[in-house]
Amino acid sequence: MTHFWDDLFAEGDEPDLEAVLLNREERVKKTALFANRYPESTVVTFKLNIPGPIKSNEKIIRLYEFGMSGFLKQMNMSFKVLESVHEFKPTGPEGFCAIQGSPVKIKKCAVELENSPIGALYDIDVYCMMKDQLMSISRKDLEYPERKCLICSHEAKQCAGRRVHSVKELQQAIIDRCTMEGSM
Ligand SMILES: [Zn+2]
Repeated sequence: MTHFWDDLFAEGDEPDLEAVLLNREERVKKTALFANRYPESTVVTFKLNIPGPIKSNEKIIRLYEFGMSGFLKQMNMSFKVLESVHEFKPTGPEGFCAIQGSPVKIKKCAVELENSPIGALYDIDVYCMMKDQLMSISRKDLEYPERKCLICSHEAKQCAGRRVHSVKELQQAIIDRCTMEGSM
């Protein structure tokens, strides 16, 4: 039996390392820009957690939009989303939002989402300005455990750092989570 998500990584944009690194720099700059524009607010960056060479295609964008819209809906129930910007680049879709609300409370919501089966595919970072400095709120700050690997029970960072799992295995784990989630 074939499923809608089976070909999630069949084809798509494969940015080179330089493009990925450049984009990371741009993201830091954009996050700072957003934080300067909304110094009283919490700034959140939202992106996908996707290993392997293929970083964007129609289904990857669909996966992003599903997660991002759910997150924004949840944010608007407890807080107020002041602005959100979405970018669709070969390095992968990503979003920036300014939210009126406590950065600690927002980080707690973000971790809850990241801990759900489909949430494991999302990477939500939370920032705020403190004394003119951009600060990131980490899981550690809240005394939460680190993120778990998609496949085994170890910390995600450990497995990624040692390349314990192949790209193919990781891609299949992502496809399985999407299939469990069903239509998006
Ligand atoms: Zn693992």
